[in-house]
Amino acid sequence: MEVMYLVIPCYNEEEMLPITAKALEEKMSALIAEKKIAPMSRVMFVDDGSADKTWQLIQKLHSENRIFTGLKLSRNKGHQNALLAGLMTAKKYADIIVSMDADLQDDINAIDGFLEKRAEGCEIVYGVRSSRETDTGFKRMTAQGYYKILAAMGVEITYNHADYRMMSRRAVEALEEFREVNLFLRGMVPMVGFKSDIVTYERAARQAGESKYPLKKMISFAVEGITSLSIKPIRFITALGFMIFFVSIIMLIYFLTVHFMGKTVAGWTTTVVSVWALGGLQLLAIGVIGEYIGKIYLETKARPKYIIETDLEEEN
Ligand code: UDP
Ligand code: MG
Repeated sequence: MEVMYLVIPCYNEEEMLPITAKALEEKMSALIAEKKIAPMSRVMFVDDGSADKTWQLIQKLHSENRIFTGLKLSRNKGHQNALLAGLMTAKKYADIIVSMDADLQDDINAIDGFLEKRAEGCEIVYGVRSSRETDTGFKRMTAQGYYKILAAMGVEITYNHADYRMMSRRAVEALEEFREVNLFLRGMVPMVGFKSDIVTYERAARQAGESKYPLKKMISFAVEGITSLSIKPIRFITALGFMIFFVSIIMLIYFLTVHFMGKTVAGWTTTVVSVWALGGLQLLAIGVIGEYIGKIYLETKARPKYIIETDLEEEN
């Protein structure tokens, strides 16, 4: 029997936490009773620098029932960093680690499926949503378009998989070797390799509290996904540059011919249009390059991705 840790990043989840804890306590007890996981298994809540009572709630849960444990980050670092902090800490105590969100949108009964795949020897099992009916039409459309763009950019990603997955300690240790600071875990985990599989489940709606991913964060996360995993945008700009250069040579020949034929009245339209077109293009190119230079800047600094303030497990 293996020790399983559930890692759950929580940011201002005081409304959701009691509901989530109750559901997970039942699930974990059932799994332990069925001898599917070892009794030492735990639910690890990672407090991502919440401003509300989230950490107090986690401490209370821990003092009432040792199935709950907690990790407190020194400040808010975002979902991906909080998740990574949880994975890297949990691997000290666990054989297998399941990551999920605090809002119970991911069906906790899919864990049985994860464990079955684990028994078949999988090191990584991806939870995949079978439908997105509970998401708004807008979120569904943008998400689907986004997966297609990522695929076109050559990023290997599991369709409709978010961060609900099971990883063995071995897989997490391999993930630790990825030194990058800009995290997009769902794109990085497939790079780890090993025998993996998927388990499908229905995604529910958030039961309490509100989404911590407003449109602005969603867009920046989407850009993060592309720029930290693919250099195709740079290649695209380079190809475009070559094309424009080629066109400009033809234009030059054309203008010279017209000039020597004596028709010297310069076309105002051509000038204005080319100034605007080139100006726009250059700005676009600089923007894309800047995006990557920003990445290099952050990577070279190699700042810590998270700082742990308290690990309740360690205090015992
Ligand atoms: N979260 C976090 N840090 C943040 C934002 C979110 O740890 O800065 C957690 C949040 O508590 C939740 C998970 O990340 O457990 C996913 O957030 P949410 O459910 O709000 O996102 P959505 O499902 O709407 O995309
Ligand atoms: Mg959610």
